[in-house]
Amino acid sequence: MTKYVYTFGSGQAEGDAAMKELLGGKGAGLAEMNRLGIPVPPGFTITTEVCRYHYDHGRAFPDSLDGEVRAAMARVEQLTGGGRFGDRDDPLLVSVRSGARVSMPGMMDTVLNLGLNDATVEALAKRSGSARFAWDSYRRFVQMYGDVVLGLKPETKEETDPFEAILEHKKEARGVELDTDLSANDLRELVGEFKAEIKRRKGVAFPEDPWEQLWGAVKAVFGSWENPRAVTYRQMYNIPSAWGTAVTVQAMVFGNLGDDCATGVAFTRDPSTGERRFFGEYLINAQGEDVVAGIRTPLPISKSPDSGGQSLEEKMGAAYADLVAVYQKLEQHYRDMQDIEFTIQRGKLWMLQTRTGKRTAKAMVRIAVEMVKEGMLTPEQAVLRMDPAKLDELLHPMLDPRVPKQVIAKGLPASPGAAVGKVVFHADDAEAMKQKGEKVVLVRVETSPEDIHGMNAAEGILTARGGMTSHAAVVARGMGKCCVAGCGAITVDYARGQFSVAQGDTMLVVKKGDLLTLDGGKGEVILGAVAMTAPALDEDYAALMKWVDGARRLRVRTNADTPIDAQTARNYGAEGIGLCRTEHMFFAEDKILAVREMILASSVEERKRALAKILPMQQQDFVGIFRAMDGLPVTIRLLDPPLHEFLPTEAAQVDVVARELGVSPEAVRARVAALHEANPMLGHRGSRLALTNPEIYQTQVVAILQAAVECKQAGVDVRPEIMLPIIGHERELTIMRALVEKAANGVLADAGVEVPYTIGTMIELPRACVVADKIAAVADFFSFGTNDLTQTTLGVSRDDAGSFLGEYVKLGIYSVDPFVAIDQEGMGQLIRLGIERGRRAKPKLKIGICGEHGGEPSSVEFCHREGFDYVSCSPFRVPIARLAAAQAALREKK
Ligand code: PEP
Ligand code: MG
Repeated sequence: MTKYVYTFGSGQAEGDAAMKELLGGKGAGLAEMNRLGIPVPPGFTITTEVCRYHYDHGRAFPDSLDGEVRAAMARVEQLTGGGRFGDRDDPLLVSVRSGARVSMPGMMDTVLNLGLNDATVEALAKRSGSARFAWDSYRRFVQMYGDVVLGLKPETKEETDPFEAILEHKKEARGVELDTDLSANDLRELVGEFKAEIKRRKGVAFPEDPWEQLWGAVKAVFGSWENPRAVTYRQMYNIPSAWGTAVTVQAMVFGNLGDDCATGVAFTRDPSTGERRFFGEYLINAQGEDVVAGIRTPLPISKSPDSGGQSLEEKMGAAYADLVAVYQKLEQHYRDMQDIEFTIQRGKLWMLQTRTGKRTAKAMVRIAVEMVKEGMLTPEQAVLRMDPAKLDELLHPMLDPRVPKQVIAKGLPASPGAAVGKVVFHADDAEAMKQKGEKVVLVRVETSPEDIHGMNAAEGILTARGGMTSHAAVVARGMGKCCVAGCGAITVDYARGQFSVAQGDTMLVVKKGDLLTLDGGKGEVILGAVAMTAPALDEDYAALMKWVDGARRLRVRTNADTPIDAQTARNYGAEGIGLCRTEHMFFAEDKILAVREMILASSVEERKRALAKILPMQQQDFVGIFRAMDGLPVTIRLLDPPLHEFLPTEAAQVDVVARELGVSPEAVRARVAALHEANPMLGHRGSRLALTNPEIYQTQVVAILQAAVECKQAGVDVRPEIMLPIIGHERELTIMRALVEKAANGVLADAGVEVPYTIGTMIELPRACVVADKIAAVADFFSFGTNDLTQTTLGVSRDDAGSFLGEYVKLGIYSVDPFVAIDQEGMGQLIRLGIERGRRAKPKLKIGICGEHGGEPSSVEFCHREGFDYVSCSPFRVPIARLAAAQAALREKK
């Protein structure tokens, strides 16, 4: 028979720290503390399995649960030595608390002092010798029960809790300020008033039967797994809803029995900086919720020049010493920073919780590195301990977490970091304002390549449409610029120069020039300017990354199109360029006109004339990149997107181009219309373009090789790798290869210089995976373009996915956006096939990935397992990929 309940107490426990999945973090931690001989009030944990059962069976419980809970309660009664649940003379009171596998602070519910009723409260008064304490505990219980179990807690912070209103009224009537100033009689009256309020609002009486109370509370705590806060939190942190929460029922200890009692929370190290100092807050004569609820201002635990004699260390020296011994034991045992909760009852310390403490990225790195120095962790353990995605925080300026903020909308967290600036709606305005020294946030329905200069000028980018691999997102990440994309809640009105967003029943209008803050890591759009803190890569980071690089097998390259990006990535440890998208260079202001001339040319001769203008400019682009990547490989991909993307769409630009070309605006518009495609992503792009217009690639290859020659002659170690996009058939590549070789060898022969170069292909179409053996025969390397491969495998447009894919993730159809993390079950099989067949034809075939997935930890691990040689990602994700690659290697070793 399945066991649903695990007891603990008096140094024994049925569970242990390894059972987090079943007992939740709290249950496992309490069990483990018992095993360590740390004082913990006895109790029992109902497993997460019951939570799942509860949801799968119309909120019912397994038949055997009742018997197990009764037996466990009897055991708790025995361990507490006296005190029985519901007993009128000596009642045992319990707390009922949630606890998921990973901590979800404050997201779910808790009920304290359960077991009190009109009879047991009298017994509690007698036994504790304090009527005031007994009635205070009872009124807290009725309030919590009413809020949590009976659902009287208001949904929003704006509404007041009905019980708080009654309490406030009572304090006013008595002319006192603090709860603690109310007498036993006041509290007795409050209990009556609270119960009447419950009856009035819910039409039911407050339950006097402790068992009825218990089952009500257990149900409510399981129910809180699905409350909106918890659901949102799970979405934010990718916590599967199938995990469920456990429920822990534990004998109460009281921090509110008098001035020799206290309750508090603490971290064994500073969770914000990582500094090795015991850090926490407490309150004398209080219960747990008082510390977190901020009703009274908590005091510091440890003595400091500012603690003014009020610290726990100074007030209750003996209990403090016990607490220090416990925290040191816990930290030694878990070998990690712990977040602990405790209560001191009549001078005796009781531990109520220990769990891995949440921390900033800075603290994460510092704590791990210092623990290695202290001999608590090996370097390998420290590396495995890191959350790769969190490293990001260290690399981008971030919002000061201490500052309150008004979030007005949420979009996709497309590119992390933070941005504060004045709202602008047009790229030109962004640039003009930047030139005047203003910081701006560019807000667009969606961005197009024409906005690139505006994006470059802006601190951050907000779009109403587009997904995680939309233009705005890819470009912003490449720039290391914060971007919130696909924020459907905002309605952009270019004509009025404003956007609007609903806030409850009212419409908030944000106008050009208003201050806006973006949190690209969370996808938050915040009104006003939130203060920022700058990133600093310190010695701890350097030490960690040294271990990381020692552990990994995968190489890490970067996706970069400019010398500045290349240099940034190199500073972050990139070992070459895995993707240089040449089209981004074409969008640059100095080239776009010549590019447009080339596209609009009506003869090959005209096209060649236009290309001749582009060639020297493109050559200089490559020179800059080769120099920045001296000694490292540089994969340059020939032009990919469809030509129409380069064409002017706005009337003014059409006129400029027409003037420049000496043709009529109508002729330009006609050409634009002729180039229109219904499905441009499946249209005339990539190598298909060069098949019909070979001059474009010829020119690019000449520019690459001339740049290589120039660099080589200047003593730079150049290693060009030329890459063809959108290849689905080996014959396409054969033709392209011949084209590239002819142009390249011509340059080298003319210059009389030798530059070794290779020719490879993107693998970004399902067909290419299936016939990878044939393609490999004509390719020197493969680079999986998982953006297009995801799009073509799933049949989901990367540019339009934003409007519905979120729902797929919410419903758990895909656990994560497949444009973010490789869909291993589906697309992963195609990749595996591609590698297998490619290497069957060419065993030493070099294989990389350059889609956005190349910087995502679970995808990097996949690449490690599947035998990739390298991953390539945007500059700011290079450290994340290095770390993820090291973790993959270490996990494999284990
Ligand atoms: C890809 O498709 O994964 C890729 C890297 O190319 P792009 O994003 O430029 O289409
Ligand atoms: Mg592609």
